Amino acid sequence: MSLCLVTGGAGFIGSHLVRRLLAEGHAVRVLDNFSTGHAANLAEVAGDIELVEGDIGDEHAAARCASGADTVFHLAARASVPRSVEFPVEANHANVTGTLILLVAAREAGVRRFVYSASSAAYGDTPTLPKVESMPPQPLSPYAVSKLAAEYYCSCFSHVYGLETISLRYFNIFGPRQDPRSAYAAAIPAFVSRMIRGERPVIYGDGEQSRDFCYVDNAVEANVLAMRAPRLSGEVVNIACGERITLNAIVALINQHLGSRLTPVYEPVRPGDVRHSLAALDAAQRTIGYRPGVMFAEGLARSLAWYRDSATRQATGS
Ligand code: NAD
Repeated sequence: MSLCLVTGGAGFIGSHLVRRLLAEGHAVRVLDNFSTGHAANLAEVAGDIELVEGDIGDEHAAARCASGADTVFHLAARASVPRSVEFPVEANHANVTGTLILLVAAREAGVRRFVYSASSAAYGDTPTLPKVESMPPQPLSPYAVSKLAAEYYCSCFSHVYGLETISLRYFNIFGPRQDPRSAYAAAIPAFVSRMIRGERPVIYGDGEQSRDFCYVDNAVEANVLAMRAPRLSGEVVNIACGERITLNAIVALINQHLGSRLTPVYEPVRPGDVRHSLAALDAAQRTIGYRPGVMFAEGLARSLAWYRDSATRQATGS
């Protein structure tokens, strides 16, 4: 079985992908600088992987980690919209320059395929739904610009240097190990962690904004399909569930699961946030054979079970 490099493997999505690749018998090397990821996310598999603490923007670390890899799964990024609004240069450095340095390293090492975790943030706030890959992008935040610029670099490396790349434009991914502690936490972990403690969830805006929330196993499956697909050359495909749910509806569902009646606290909309989002999945199906396997309700139930267990583990110190 082949060697896979997973950048950002100590993060939320990366830590799920690492486990899946190991389960399929691949050798796995992780490159992560632990800026938002944690070694604890890889605790039970630490003995089975090569874990390199380093930065994708460090040419030596990138070259050393790409060496011998068949596939590079590139997930490392500063992955927060609000943080990118505060620190745009940092977002550009990690997400654009970092990706470019890694692409150069992958090409020089003779990597067969480069699978990039892109973002639906590239679509911005255009009213047309569902979002189709051929729509003109309209990035609204420094994060969105940086993720889109890196997509262009991936396609460019296919066309100019023949490195096989694909960009997986994830919509909102959620699931176990998504960090609720950060000031920039994504909606679902932020809601769940407060509501489990009996606290009211905070919604930025009126709560009627909607997203195509997608359980993390679907993103992992998309990466594995992208590794196996026949020849690729810079394609860009959406990865989501193809169904749209409002933040108010999510709070209602979480209340139902917890048997609570917590009402949201509504705060002003944050700059850079988009109003509605929904993916067309035809290109993903055509290009890599992707179909969502776990739909929203099931994914939310699995995530809630995990956050409850984790709250109990923390409370009992086990
Ligand atoms: P995350 O923050 O949990 O994971 C990112 C990982 O990358 C962390 O472990 C972090 O320490 C590492 N990292 C950051 N900068 C680095 C650098 N310069 N060098 C080495 N490691 C670095 O985020 P996530 O939600 O797991 O996101 C993974 C990828 O998916 C990101 O590229 C993100 O842009 C993309 N994405 C995520 C979502 C989502 O909903 N979670 C949606 C669209 C796209």
